[in-house]
Amino acid sequence: MPMLKLENGLKIFNLTGHEEDQRIAMDHLNLTIEEGEWVTIIGGNGSGKSTLMNVISGVHQLDAGSLFIDGEDVTKLPEHKRAKYLGRVFQDPNMGTAGMISIEENMSIASRRMRKNTLKWGFHKEERKKYYDMIASLNLGLEDRLLQKVGLLSGGQRQAITLLMATLQTPKILLLDEHTAALDPKTARIVLEITEKIVTENKLTTLMITHNMRDAIKYGDRLIMMYGGKIIYDVKGEEKKNLTVDFLLNKFEEMDKISSGE
Ligand code: ADP
Ligand code: MG
Repeated sequence: MPMLKLENGLKIFNLTGHEEDQRIAMDHLNLTIEEGEWVTIIGGNGSGKSTLMNVISGVHQLDAGSLFIDGEDVTKLPEHKRAKYLGRVFQDPNMGTAGMISIEENMSIASRRMRKNTLKWGFHKEERKKYYDMIASLNLGLEDRLLQKVGLLSGGQRQAITLLMATLQTPKILLLDEHTAALDPKTARIVLEITEKIVTENKLTTLMITHNMRDAIKYGDRLIMMYGGKIIYDVKGEEKKNLTVDFLLNKFEEMDKISSGE
């Protein structure tokens, strides 16, 4: 059974009510993702990449079509009821963590997110040890700063912690929306290496949006290209490994030509 199945997904935005302002952000999209698959997603601005993640996480309800997560029909399920299935990391390092509280408290909130008894505070020795080990595994030297406020950390450090928090409960699907785009190239590289470690060690089904085509080729085992709310290219295995940035750029240019009627 696939981990994700989107059937004929349609999402239309119309902020003004005028037909000419209508945006088809998701255009009758079909997408099936197997358990453990790591899919990288590329596409120009406004091609519908974030909409796909927003539809999966329930930020937006589909206007038509259906969505299944691990066999369960979640089409009508509100966002808060899907949260337990999903881990999500955004571009902005300030979004995934709370700056005013410590690393340890952030981790604790993430680990209690899906349990009842959310208000039970205080740390057990084992819990502290667990966070220490997880943070130490990042190799960023943050394990001795567990009691420091997250607001004192760099963007890359925050993204690394957000990744741990998003995967603490082993989500059914991990959604990464340009999570390294706000980082400098060196830090982005480190966060991607950490991402790879977490995804492969936990065999996480993962969707990763990136505007860096080299990263889209290097990471993951399947690559999807979006254009105008549609998937225009979908490739995996050897064929994906052998892709080049030039080839992908040509594909984009072809699409631009077709859509502008040249
Ligand atoms: P991408 O992430 O690929 O840059 P998006 O999925 O954010 O693209 O956007 C796809 C299209 O849908 C764009 O035309 C965008 O303007 C529109 N769109 C996305 N989200 C909204 C929204 N909340 N309200 C109105 N229009 C939106
Ligand atoms: Mg986006």
